[in-house]
Parts: sequence; C-alpha cells; structure tokens
Amino acid sequence: MITLALSKGRIFDDTLPLLRAAGIEVTEDPERSRKLILATTRPDVRVVLVRASDVPTYVRRGGADIGVAGLDVLLEDEAENDAAGSLYKPLDLQIARCRLSVATRADFDWAGTVRQGARLAVATKYTHLARQHFAAKGMHVDLIKLYGSMELAPLTGLADAIVDLVSTGSTLKANQLVEVEKIMDISSRLVVNPASLKLKREPLRQLIDAFESAVTAAVGAQA
Ligand code: ATP
Ligand code: MG
Repeated sequence: MITLALSKGRIFDDTLPLLRAAGIEVTEDPERSRKLILATTRPDVRVVLVRASDVPTYVRRGGADIGVAGLDVLLEDEAENDAAGSLYKPLDLQIARCRLSVATRADFDWAGTVRQGARLAVATKYTHLARQHFAAKGMHVDLIKLYGSMELAPLTGLADAIVDLVSTGSTLKANQLVEVEKIMDISSRLVVNPASLKLKREPLRQLIDAFESAVTAAVGAQA
C-alpha cells in the first residue's frame, strides 16, 4: 500500500489532475465526506487528509510514504526540527504558487524605518523563515507568532509588519496593506519518505515519474 498525504483545499484540488494523469482517481470528495482516509481507483494507493503543516511530519515519520507540501511549510519545518535531508524532495509540482512577502500598512514608511535601523515588530506564522530573512539583512526584529489572519496585526497595532503568503494581493489590498519585500517564490513539492523509497521502490518510482510527466505537460500547456 502507498499512502499519499495531502491537505484539503488548494493542494488537494491542484494535485487531483496530476494524479489523474498518473491514472489514479480519488473516489471520494473530501468536501462531502468526513473521512480522513480516501480510497482511489488504484487498490494499492490511498490518500490521507492532514493539515498542510502536518504533511512533513507524516512523511518524515512514515505515517505516509509520499506527500505534497508547500515550500513554505517544508522550509519552516526543516528550520524548526533541524530536519534538513530527512525527506526526499524529487519534484517541484509547480502548483499552489505564491510568494512569501513582507507587508505593512500602506501608510507605514517601511524603507525609512529600515534605513534608521529601528527595531520592528513582525507578526507571522513563519517565524523561522522570517528570522532567517531579517538576520541576513542585519535587521533587528521582534517576531510575534500568529496562527492565522496575519493581516489584522498591522491594523490593530500588534505589529509593524507581517510575513505572509501573497498570490494576487487582493487580501492585502482589501485590508489597506502593501507588499514591501518579496522573500521567496513558493510552490508545492512532492516529498517522499527515504525508507519507503527503498522498500517500495518500484511503485513509488512509477508514481514519481508519472507526476513528473504530468507536471511537464501542465507547464508546457501553460507556456
Ligand atoms: P491551515 O488552513 O491548516 O492552517 P494553510 O492555511 O497553510 O493551513 P492552505 O491555505 O491550504 O493551508 O495552504 C496550503 C499551501 O498552499 C501553503 O502552504 C502554501 O504553500 C500554498 N498557499 C497558501 N496560500 C496561497 C495562495 N494565496 N495562493 C497560492 N498558494 C497558496
Ligand atoms: Mg489557509
């Protein structure tokens, strides 16, 4: 049995066409069912639904053989658990694309504040990535860990800035925030448990190759 860990929402939705191209259909709709383990048309492949930030833990510890996770989640997980190298990351799936950015209120003088070397309060879910980014720039920041709705922090005076994911920018705009720095581009990656790759080499290789062909076809179709 091959267990694939996915999170509900955009990663699940964007992975379905890649699975389909690999000849695998998920036979249940996670939005209609409360089931956490979903069967597929391949008797030896099942999908487990986990929180986006739990995907690396499941795959690293063998609760799943393979999974799909955002680069944001993977890098934050590596920094937090000192876990670089414990997951095999064979493929950029080019789905759930966005960027990790710094944003402030539109009326906040970010450039001036940075120039003065003032100490800034930054709210984020990505404390490790934010710390690395500001340390590399030699900036002093107080990081405030939040679990959701980062946009609210600068509006309420909780923080001067946020580090968060941005895709269209419409959420920022709706809250009178502006993107002041891009930290990195983000997309979702295939992650594989190294022990599974040894024990289930053939079926996993086939699956990875099928994903790779599907990504190449999808990217080609966009170009
Ligand atoms: P949870 O809802 O469990 O707290 P989450 O909010 O991180 O987790 P999603 O919103 O489904 O879960 O995001 C999953 C992944 O999709 C993120 O880790 C990121 O890589 C990517 N992502 C997040 N927001 C966007 C966005 N606006 N556009 C494109 N991709 C995004
Ligand atoms: Mg979300």
